[in-house]
Amino acid sequence: MKDTFKHKGLRQQLVEIIKSKGIKDEKVLEAIGNIPRHMFMDSGFLDHAYQDKAFPIAADQTISQPYTVAFQTELLQVKPGDKILEIGTGSGYQTAVLCELGAVVYSIERQRELYKKTSKFLPKLGYIAKKLIFGDGYIGLKEEAPFKGIIVTAGAPFVPKPLLSQLAIGGRLVIPVGDEVQTMTLFIRNGAKEFEKHEFGEFRFVPLLEDKN
Ligand code: SAH
Repeated sequence: MKDTFKHKGLRQQLVEIIKSKGIKDEKVLEAIGNIPRHMFMDSGFLDHAYQDKAFPIAADQTISQPYTVAFQTELLQVKPGDKILEIGTGSGYQTAVLCELGAVVYSIERQRELYKKTSKFLPKLGYIAKKLIFGDGYIGLKEEAPFKGIIVTAGAPFVPKPLLSQLAIGGRLVIPVGDEVQTMTLFIRNGAKEFEKHEFGEFRFVPLLEDKN
């Protein structure tokens, strides 16, 4: 699949749209401007790739809305070399954003079909995650902790304890919390048992499900 001037033009328009919705981080905007989102979607949805909307991918899941991806990434405040854990690899689009920012990325997906598809696909675009894992994000990834940042890209009915305990001191957890509708929530770890909590607007994600499939 090609990345044409038309795609690049549409992508710049998308960057302008999410900028107008309040995203300020230039590095995040640049990442969105660089990533060929149309390649992360099934051919039937190509025309929609540069609309600011979520769309279906395989296994009844969705590729998140670009604004949402940008919003969560901005909250994460990624610096090059930061060790980041993503829960919900899905299409790999958010993973690609983290790679563009120079993060060392670990990403967990519970749907085998998506895990397989995305593991093959991302390296083809030059996005090399440190590790893609088929597993259950509720338990995090203890063996690689602590993480500078953890980003959950599915709606969590509650905040999984392992994710808080796998944060480095000064680390940030960005997680949409809620059942039908989720409140974007940021936890900053200030000490072994000290966490600062900030809440942002409401978003809608597919649910964070336990176990793997
Ligand atoms: N970041 C993805 C968003 C995909 S939607 C993207 O940009 O495309 C959320 C993803 O989280 C789905 O792929 C879903 O299968 C996955 N997911 C849900 N519960 C999970 C869990 N407990 N552990 C890991 N992944 C999970």
